[in-house]
Amino acid sequence: MNKEQTDLYGSLKKIFGFNKFKGLQEAVVNSVLENHNTFVIMPTGGGKSLCYQLPALMKEGTAIVISPLIALMKNQVDAIRGISENHGIAHVLNSSLNKSEIAQVKSDIESGITKLLYVAPESLIKEEYVDFLRDQKISFVAIDEAHCISEWGHDFRPEYRNLRSIIKQIDNVPIIGLTATATEKVQEDILKTLGMTDANVFKASFNRANLFYEVRPKTKEVEKDIIRFIKQRLGKSGIIYCLSRKKVEEIAQVLQVNGINAVPYHAGLDAKTRVKHQDMFLMEDCDVVVATIAFGMGIDKPDVRYVIHHDIPKSLESYYQETGRAGRDGGEGYCLTFYSYKDIEKLEKFMANKPVAEQEVGHALLQEVVGYAETSMNRRKYLLHYFGEEFDEVNGEGADMDDNMRNPKKKHEAKDEVVTLLSVIKNTSE
Ligand code: ADP
Ligand code: MG
Repeated sequence: MNKEQTDLYGSLKKIFGFNKFKGLQEAVVNSVLENHNTFVIMPTGGGKSLCYQLPALMKEGTAIVISPLIALMKNQVDAIRGISENHGIAHVLNSSLNKSEIAQVKSDIESGITKLLYVAPESLIKEEYVDFLRDQKISFVAIDEAHCISEWGHDFRPEYRNLRSIIKQIDNVPIIGLTATATEKVQEDILKTLGMTDANVFKASFNRANLFYEVRPKTKEVEKDIIRFIKQRLGKSGIIYCLSRKKVEEIAQVLQVNGINAVPYHAGLDAKTRVKHQDMFLMEDCDVVVATIAFGMGIDKPDVRYVIHHDIPKSLESYYQETGRAGRDGGEGYCLTFYSYKDIEKLEKFMANKPVAEQEVGHALLQEVVGYAETSMNRRKYLLHYFGEEFDEVNGEGADMDDNMRNPKKKHEAKDEVVTLLSVIKNTSE
């Protein structure tokens, strides 16, 4: 090892307590340290945060981290503070701060002790902040959840669109974009919009070999199915996703009545309750969070043992992200999805009053979801193919970890159907 490498491993150990880098982390960190534009595509739990946190802590100046959610930022800043035990090192700049808090953040940046500044895009746009940051020493800009930039992503946020021009106004610094979702389209879109088609691109495998995928028909018995499923896993942590706030409340109640320790989480609850329920889940004061998609982005609970989709998500990116919150520690992660074509029609209806272009994107994404839900092939292969990755369904890691592969009856039936079909064709052609 040369000196720089020794320093790198030393910092990794000293700051984060890790002995090794995970996957592509080391290459990414080096790319950022060398001031290249860098683009990282790694699945949820892949360890993206460290890719910008470590270089930020090693470099001179403040790294600006753009992140879409306040809850997510809080989670990250708490984590990094826990690691570094230095309160100057990470700060959040957003609308929840009062005047004196803002002054404190500013003075910490000016004195150079703030290494990471988390900002929501809508705050960064503010002229006051742009003017201030322009005069500071900025090391680089990290854009977490970078798929929010793309209309082809599952979580498009218009505020992300203007980031390039704002970053330019602040300083001509390198950018590192990070996402767990990148179909080719989203990837191209991100690089183009951020003006970084020259970036070093690092793409990790998306295979989550420890996750088991099952899609079940959604019947009137769905609540009973869910209760039975959870009762077989009492004391284990799980997330249940529902489409609407109303459904979240309903299911949470049904579970509570059935003696399951569940709390609701959705954007209709006040901030205090949301934080409380999130913390309860993280601290294991409850087993189950029933939530809308408002819950989970970036929440780092390693031992979530199952993710249930009461309602199917509107894209395979969302599905992958949400199921990806299970088994982040590499242990068991069961992903159970309830599917009914009626739910697809419902999702189509929701889009009806959106602009035509958006409807078209939405429709195309939904068709992929239908394909996945209805397929009888290896689900992992289907999913990975969607992300532009070939999966070896014989020898690939986790090859037998889905309902289609485990349930020989279904396979048998499918084969019988083919045989019947073949004989029909034969008979008719004879
Ligand atoms: P992502 O943002 O890609 O979803 P995170 O950055 O939240 O992933 O990291 C996921 C988990 O991996 C965290 O618990 C983190 O502490 C852990 N982790 C990251 N890098 C390493 C490493 N080099 N060694 C061990 N654990 C790591
Ligand atoms: Mg992350």
